[in-house]
Amino acid sequence: MALTRHNKNSHPNRPLAVPVHQASQDAHIPYFSLPDHGLGEQMSYELLTNELLLDGQARLNLATFVTTWMPSMAARLMDETADKNIIDKDEYPQTAEIESRCVNIIANLWHADEAEQATGCSTTGSSEAAMLAGLAMKWRWRKRQRAAGKPTDRPNLVTGANVQVCWEKFMRYWDVEPRLVPMEGERYHLGAAEAVALCDENTIGVVAVLGSTFDGSYEPVSEVASALDDLQSRTGLDIPLHVDGASGGFVAPFIQPELEWDFRIPRVQSINASGHKYGLVYPGVGWAIWRNEQALPKELIFDVNYLGGHMPTFALNFSRPGSEVIAQYFMFVSLGHEGYRRVMQNAQDVALHLSSGIEKLGPYKLLSRGDELPVFAFTLNDNITNYSVYDVSDHLRQRGWLVPAYSFPENRQDLNVLRIVVRAGMTMDMAEMLLKQLGEETEDLQSLSGPLPSTTSRPRKAFAH
Ligand SMILES: *Cc1c(COP(=O)(O)O)cnc(C)c1O
Repeated sequence: MALTRHNKNSHPNRPLAVPVHQASQDAHIPYFSLPDHGLGEQMSYELLTNELLLDGQARLNLATFVTTWMPSMAARLMDETADKNIIDKDEYPQTAEIESRCVNIIANLWHADEAEQATGCSTTGSSEAAMLAGLAMKWRWRKRQRAAGKPTDRPNLVTGANVQVCWEKFMRYWDVEPRLVPMEGERYHLGAAEAVALCDENTIGVVAVLGSTFDGSYEPVSEVASALDDLQSRTGLDIPLHVDGASGGFVAPFIQPELEWDFRIPRVQSINASGHKYGLVYPGVGWAIWRNEQALPKELIFDVNYLGGHMPTFALNFSRPGSEVIAQYFMFVSLGHEGYRRVMQNAQDVALHLSSGIEKLGPYKLLSRGDELPVFAFTLNDNITNYSVYDVSDHLRQRGWLVPAYSFPENRQDLNVLRIVVRAGMTMDMAEMLLKQLGEETEDLQSLSGPLPSTTSRPRKAFAH
């Protein structure tokens, strides 16, 4: 993730140490250059397992949306299929078949109409899926503009200011002007009227997020769709709607089946989701689905060789592990619809229990409750001036819990919050323990007789959602 700078000379005297009981004179290796002689498999394994202990307890990490627990049989299957390259359709036709089954399962889950022949693909995550969906919108818009003899040099995309960084990346990397709807008052995500007000003939699409990373709330997809329908009937502008269902794409179908946010809405042209979030697979898999052929311009599709024939692909990467897709299919068949429903319902029950427990502690005010995504954000009441949400986050970290604190985007930069993401591996017992420890830490902070210096002076690292 971090872009690493070349670092030849730092730590020249601090070679990586191997476990003491195995250390010998030549068991020291340099940090930043390839050792002249390797340590061998056993010692390298020891070295790495020891070093990685410093990474922290994934299960106590309430900051991430990404899967940190899978059944051991799934882990074994991934291990056994680690050598399969997903792009090599010719050599691994059955992996290709499994990918295609997953695309169909997901398209059905999102109510794609069989007659429209939805297409889709796996990706490395929602970020790659967002790049692909964004490109499809851009190509589609450009074709329309060219056909009308209009300029194609100023495309823009409309989203909420709360959009995940992958969309800002898409816009910057592919020269698309960002048009971000700011938050306002207690509206912490995209509003339909505000989105439409930013649209013009250079708008390649509107992105609505099913599950804002800032507070876990669902954006009003069907309201945005209706507002865009209305815009079309007034002005003739036909602007596609994409749903970023990175998290919600695998939550809403199971515990909010009545909520219409997907291909049931004709305006929704494409949807992405992260298999490695509530799809319940370890990091490295996402999905993108387009409702029909018109939504995915064929100029973007490449053929790869497949059993002597051709197989259409749409991807930024070429080689990629097939094991991720196999693990997704494993989760689908092993849990089934009822299993996913149970997992999501449990996550939501835990989130609701936690949010109401936190509300009862006194100093906190909930901004969301975890009744959409099992994710909620809370802040401190205005009368709390001796400590900040950042101090609460620090205190929880000392007890092993990672609960991030961050500020909201424009126009609510004044709002500093804590956020809890409840994932599949979080049990009611763990929730009880967190509530108890948060209660104790809060009591400590409440007993301060003056403000902590950190609330005003300590610089904070930005939190990446
Ligand atoms: C996590 C997330 C992304 C990025 O997804 P990756 O799978 O991590 O690439 C995009 N959008 C939203 C709403 C997210 O929650």
